[in-house]
Amino acid sequence: MTTHTHNPHTHERPHRHHYDAEMLSVEEARDRILSYFEPLSSVDVPLLDALGLTLDEDLVADFDIPPLANSAMDGYAVRSTDVAPASKYNPVLLPVNGYIAAGDVPAAPVEQGTAMRIMTGAPVPEGADAVVPFEDTDEETRRQNGDVISEIGIQLSAEPGDNIRPAGEDIRSGDTVVAKGTELTAGVIGVAASLGRTSVKAIRRPVIAIVSTGDELVDPGEERDAGKIYNSNAYSVAAMAEKYGGIATIIGIARDTIESLEAMLEEAVKYDMVVTSAGVSKGDYDVVKDVLAKGGEIALWSVRMRPAKPLAFGALNAPDGRKVPHLGLPGNPVSAMVAFEQFGRPAIRVMLGKSQLPKPYILATLDDPVQNHDGRRVYARVDVYRDDDGNYRARLTGNQSSGALHSMARARGLAICPDDVDAVPAGAKIKVEMLEWPDDDLLSDLFAD
Ligand code: AMP
Ligand code: MG
Repeated sequence: MTTHTHNPHTHERPHRHHYDAEMLSVEEARDRILSYFEPLSSVDVPLLDALGLTLDEDLVADFDIPPLANSAMDGYAVRSTDVAPASKYNPVLLPVNGYIAAGDVPAAPVEQGTAMRIMTGAPVPEGADAVVPFEDTDEETRRQNGDVISEIGIQLSAEPGDNIRPAGEDIRSGDTVVAKGTELTAGVIGVAASLGRTSVKAIRRPVIAIVSTGDELVDPGEERDAGKIYNSNAYSVAAMAEKYGGIATIIGIARDTIESLEAMLEEAVKYDMVVTSAGVSKGDYDVVKDVLAKGGEIALWSVRMRPAKPLAFGALNAPDGRKVPHLGLPGNPVSAMVAFEQFGRPAIRVMLGKSQLPKPYILATLDDPVQNHDGRRVYARVDVYRDDDGNYRARLTGNQSSGALHSMARARGLAICPDDVDAVPAGAKIKVEMLEWPDDDLLSDLFAD
């Protein structure tokens, strides 16, 4: 921070650079930005912290799962040849020579003409080739009569293998069970645990440094004098960075001077990516572009989108020699979020080693028209719901001004009017990129029909 008293409004500014912002489509801007990113290094991650990360090793089994043939039912382990004639009214009587619970190792084989009581998951003793479940024996009747079960009546014949899970049925020793590059879902984490793993090699999460710029900003929790507004961008952008798998660190608010911003960036370049907001328009105090220019590499773009037309992108020089990508978001609160959605989200995904960079979309029928006056791609804030016929519908959530954050808070998606289309009328189908996809009615009736 600057220590001397400093009024940016009377301060004689250093030589100003002038840039003609190049006009790009969303895809062109995204491609250029993503060319600065690559998957991060991998680290050993405790299993439960690995959810959603990318596996950076093959998970190979070094034993069979299940390790031994085991019973799929509670019942009696038998030799199928012994029970071939069994039926409900002509049970085959067999002496019961023992009991095996899950986790036991059978002490003796099942000899011809005998049975062993066995629980689900218990290893099947040698000699036995089938398990007859309790329901197909007279065990219940014997119990009700208070009998000690020293013999059992088998009431159903069995084929070899009945109710037995063979060793290696799920996973064979030597198999690559999950390949490098796979996302660590709950299922993959379960498989890793079943192989005895406590941690996995996974691509680490990127740490995103967030800097807000503007003389008008104060942080929530601070006194807000007349003319000031709360810094919301740092929080909305940090929340998005974390939602998409990053770790957000809010560095602070830089004032609209080069020195103040440089002081903040000095801290910010210690991380994997720097995100600033505001200071990228043509105004006098838009210093982000000046600072980027001093750092060497700068791109200042006009992206053919609404909101979020002005965008800066560059690479900052870190003291350790790294080039740290810097995404300069516009200042308007909705613009900052929409631009982060289009450019920050895919950058995080690249660093996490994930694919599917553009967001998947649904098709919804519009309740309200979406206008496009000037050939930009419009991202309209919409609520998405399902009508009585089960079709997706989208309705505008209110004021579509780039400063109206309230309508963003109520939006479940961004409906897209293409660059070259003047308007999408009410009743027409429109693509919607979902921002929130909660586990509620929106999904549940997808599976109802
Ligand atoms: P600028 O890009 O600096 O011209 O800012 C555009 C608009 O966004 C102005 O109305 C700013 O007050 C507002 N703005 C800039 N930064 C933030 C922020 N961090 N939080 C909320 N609003 C902001
Ligand atoms: Mg400003």
